[in-house]
Amino acid sequence: MHVVPLPALADNYIWLLYDDSGHAIVVDPGEAHPVEDALRARKLKLCAILLTHHHSDHIGGAAALRAAHGAPIYAPEDERIPAATHRVRDGEMLALAEPAVRFQVLAVPGHTLSHIVYAGAGVLLCGDTLFSLGCGRLFEGTPAQMLASLQRIAALPGNLLVCCGHEYTAANGRFAQTVEPDNTALKQRLDDVATLRGKQQPSVPATLSSELACNPFLRVNSDDVIAWCRRHGAANDDAVARFAALRSAKDGFQA
Ligand code: ZN
Ligand code: FE
Repeated sequence: MHVVPLPALADNYIWLLYDDSGHAIVVDPGEAHPVEDALRARKLKLCAILLTHHHSDHIGGAAALRAAHGAPIYAPEDERIPAATHRVRDGEMLALAEPAVRFQVLAVPGHTLSHIVYAGAGVLLCGDTLFSLGCGRLFEGTPAQMLASLQRIAALPGNLLVCCGHEYTAANGRFAQTVEPDNTALKQRLDDVATLRGKQQPSVPATLSSELACNPFLRVNSDDVIAWCRRHGAANDDAVARFAALRSAKDGFQA
């Protein structure tokens, strides 16, 4: 499977997946024209549209793409996604015929309450739940919900490629370094990110294993994160309090 991030809007990525016979899936098309351009340039047939959550920067192009290509739109149960043709829910295995792929669907409340992720075909399609070196803001869910969602993601196979919804890695990394200044895996990742961004290339996808080594929001039980949280008022024995302290510090961080 080919996996390509298509830049869209200000800093979104629409993910394009396709097989060698030219059958394509797009994920979170916030607008249609980058998808149309990519389909035309690569001579692909759009076979399915997958949505992770209801925000307009992730679904804005879905209806137009369906109108042009007739592709089904898979989405979580949420009336704020009226264009959906198929609803998918937690625990479901979404099996597509063309391209022939299977995705495990996980409910991951936090950024929004109905947010889902899709895991399969070597990728994790995670919308605004997990970012490289960061995580989504809590617009609807609680810290406890988001931490539980991230912990479910963390238990997935480490070789999955984390295909997230935004190019936020460099700014996330500046915050991550304030939390774990001695994390050598993080330092290496930031060097790689600087090189990629210097060449105008996407910093993603990275593997889930890399995120587990570098992303403070997946590392609330690491010694350095625990120590940082203690200095920022979170009790030692409460992972949710540590996660909440990290998330609110990041919300106020000027990168
Ligand atoms: Zn969002
Ligand atoms: Fe978004």
